[in-house]
Formats: sequence, C-alpha cells, structure tokens
Amino acid sequence: AIPPAPDLPRIVTEIAAEMAAETDRGVVADYIPQLAGVRPDQFGLAVATADGQLIAAGDTGVPFSIQSVSKVFTLALALGRHGNAVWERVGREPSGDPFNSIVQLEHERGRPRNPFINAGAIAVTDAILSQYAPKEALGEILRFIRFLAGDDDIAIDPAVARSEKQTGFRNVALANFMRSYGIVTGQPDKVLGVYFHHCAIAMSVRQLAMAGRFLAFDGRLAPDGRRAVSARMARQINALMLTCGHYDGSGDFAFRVGLPGKSGVGGGILAVAPGRASIGCWSPGLNTIGNSQLASRALERLARRTGWSVFAAR
Ligand code: GLU
Repeated sequence: AIPPAPDLPRIVTEIAAEMAAETDRGVVADYIPQLAGVRPDQFGLAVATADGQLIAAGDTGVPFSIQSVSKVFTLALALGRHGNAVWERVGREPSGDPFNSIVQLEHERGRPRNPFINAGAIAVTDAILSQYAPKEALGEILRFIRFLAGDDDIAIDPAVARSEKQTGFRNVALANFMRSYGIVTGQPDKVLGVYFHHCAIAMSVRQLAMAGRFLAFDGRLAPDGRRAVSARMARQINALMLTCGHYDGSGDFAFRVGLPGKSGVGGGILAVAPGRASIGCWSPGLNTIGNSQLASRALERLARRTGWSVFAAR
C-alpha cells in the first residue's frame, strides 16, 4: 500500500477550517422541503486511507441525503450481478445535457448515455430489480452499501423518499419513456419506488468515505481486504465517475480536482484517489450546476496539497 501523506491530518483540518470561514457557500437544493431545510453552514471532510485510517474534520458524523451519489453503489451492484449485460441498457459517454434530460433518450432509442444521469440510474435500478420484488431489491442495495462501509447504521430517510416520489414527475416520464423502448423492463412505478428510496439513503462523510474504499483499492475494502467487485469493474466505475460524475460540471471537476468523483444534490461528493484513499465530502450549498460549492473547492485543495491527482506522475 502507498503510505498516506504524513501531513494528511493537518491538511484535512486546515481545509475544514478554511471552508468554515467561507461566506460564498452556494444555494441549498429546494425541490423538496427535506433538502431546503438543511442548514447551509455545514461542512464535513473524511478520508479513508490505504493503511486503514479514517481522518476527518468538520461535521463528520451528520447524515445527509446522498441522492445521486447512490448511483455509484447501484452501478457496482448491478455490474457485480449482471456483468457486461448492464451496458446493453446504458452507455458510457458524458451527456452534455442536464442530469434529468429526456431529449437524448429520443435520439438513442431510449438508451441513456451513462449510468449517472437520472435515466441511466433508473435503467440500472431496473436491472437490479429484475430478480427481486421492490422491497427485496432495496434491501439488497442497502445491505451492499452497509457491507462496503462496514456500517449497519446506514439507513433510508423515509420522508425524503416520500417527497422524491411526490415531486419526481420528470423521473416518471424518463422511466415510462425507457419502458416504451424496452430499456426499462419492469413496471415503471416499481422501478421508481426503488430509485427514489436509494436516492433517499442518508450517510455521513465518514460513512461515505468508508463506503467508497472499494473504488480506491481495486475492488477491495482495503488493499488486502475483502473483495466487493472485480478490479476491472472498480477501474471502470472510476473512469465513469471522472467523465460523468458531476453532471454538466464533470469536465471542470476533472480539470480542477483530477480525481474520479460523484456528486449529489444533497451536497455530498464521493471522490477516489486510486491506491491512496476514498474521500467523503459534504456541504449542502450548491453551485449553479448543482454540485456542492464548498465540497468541490475542498477537494480541489485536498488534491493539490496531497498531490493525489490521477494525472500526477507516480
Ligand atoms: N433524486 C434526485 C432526482 O432524481 C437526484 C438528484 C441528484 O442528486 O442528482 O431528481
């Protein structure tokens, strides 16, 4: 294993202090009351390293709605279960369209461009659901995330799930549209029920950093630990996170931070420094593209101060 930067604890503490002093914090998502009500002055950063440490600062134990970060875990689960068959339903190209766009689907026979836009994630959820009843599929997803994080306290926020369902008309349209092309094969309302619930999973940055370790360590929970997915799958997921993980801001995140990352409208970002660390970062205020303003900024500083960019010479 690559030893962590010796000054990592200092770097993490410094970044949290710098973020606490920021006044330009972005705007909290307001499409559901459970997100609109989150205090914008919160920030947390947690780094799970190759030698088994968890180095964290700020609001490290506060659960937040992981939202689209869940799409990483459902993709990993679906790839583990169905292998390359997943790619028959969903592509691997950045979209250049907003996360909930329906236009592109019409051009490509209902096949979403990648698994991290809403349509793609709904198609992935449908693949998971194909073997199960909705309750069981949801149980599988939650069990998988708890296994990845080594933490049985991770749970779904039922109020968020209910609100997602009440307001998710666009997602309903996407699911039905894909059903018409046979990309979604199950009943759209059942698929959406599972999708809304996995978006409503709540985690702290500590739990998120732990859950992402398999991406940092070639599919294992630690460099010599238990295997979650194959090394090849972990690398493929990282490639998709780098190219598609930040909506229409994916290019900018790769440019500034240089790490695979997946963001969600709850303000969370999971970032991966291959061989070195899995990083959970959260601050609820979003930039205009919908990525956490301070979490993006903090990760940019972390990558710069540790030299962890995937583009750095090793
Ligand atoms: N549940 C949200 C939606 O489907 C996820 C949004 C996001 O984090 O990108 O609209």
